[in-house]
Amino acid sequence: CGIFAYLNYLTPKSRQEVLDLLVTGLKRLEYRGYDSTGVAIDSPDNKDIVMVKRTGKVKVLEDAIQEHFSGGEYSEPVNTHVGIAHTRWATHGVPCERNSHPQRSDEGNSFVVVHNGIITNYNDVKTFLSKKGYEFESDTDTEVFAKLVHHLWKKHPNYSFRELVEQAIQQVEGAFAIAVKSKYFPGECVASRRSSPLLVAIKTKTRLATDHIPILYGKDTDSGKPQVLPRSESTSEFMPLEEKEVEYFFASDASAVIEHTNRVIYLEDDDVAAVRDGTLSIHRLKKSLDDPHAREITTLK
Ligand code: GLU
Repeated sequence: CGIFAYLNYLTPKSRQEVLDLLVTGLKRLEYRGYDSTGVAIDSPDNKDIVMVKRTGKVKVLEDAIQEHFSGGEYSEPVNTHVGIAHTRWATHGVPCERNSHPQRSDEGNSFVVVHNGIITNYNDVKTFLSKKGYEFESDTDTEVFAKLVHHLWKKHPNYSFRELVEQAIQQVEGAFAIAVKSKYFPGECVASRRSSPLLVAIKTKTRLATDHIPILYGKDTDSGKPQVLPRSESTSEFMPLEEKEVEYFFASDASAVIEHTNRVIYLEDDDVAAVRDGTLSIHRLKKSLDDPHAREITTLK
């Protein structure tokens, strides 16, 4: 029922600070109602993703986090990090730790996903993936998404993280806001939405040089570099967002980010927002005639 994700780039933060940010973000979303909570961050050796999930209040999660991650390597600052967090309002599967988010692709936590909404065709996707050998550990609709991304990653080893998520959202129906983290794409976060709210918030030290983020349309090349199709003259006035020191937030609503920044982009249905090397891109697979060239960066009052 609430998504919160955080990414710092060249703005050193310890894992403990990232976890504090995530927990605070979840607390701001508490009013939306929920039955369980969870977070995912990188392990101190950066080789694994660690998750903590709890049924009940954010406070219960907060206490569990304090037990798990106090001191030592968790207090050392790192230049870039991605953390994702979730409050769940169960629709598929009873509230319990196993059904809480993040949901994962495999035991190695290769891809972990937080999701709001309902994937209505999850049974079909589940049947397809079961035939490919995937075994399911939760009763959620969300788990199919994590495993679908993993399946696509095996099938298309050259795809960028954004392309993988973009391909996956083509294959699911229903309503979702989703944020994905992967141990194969450290420092990257990909998020998308359809009929469930999701925004990206941007925090920079100096004033942002642009009010818009260009939308990249069309299929990627194998290198993962987006092609801008078609190239329009008016796009040239919009600079891509390439800030040196930047923090990004993905959230279900503005109340979770307003204490950090007032610059937000409200994502539209089927936008895929990806952060890679500190750069935010917004991508759409298809372009219709009257689609805009850019998404506006709104200043919250
Ligand atoms: N359908 C998902 C589940 O039951 C997400 C529910 C939500 O929006 O929190 O796990």
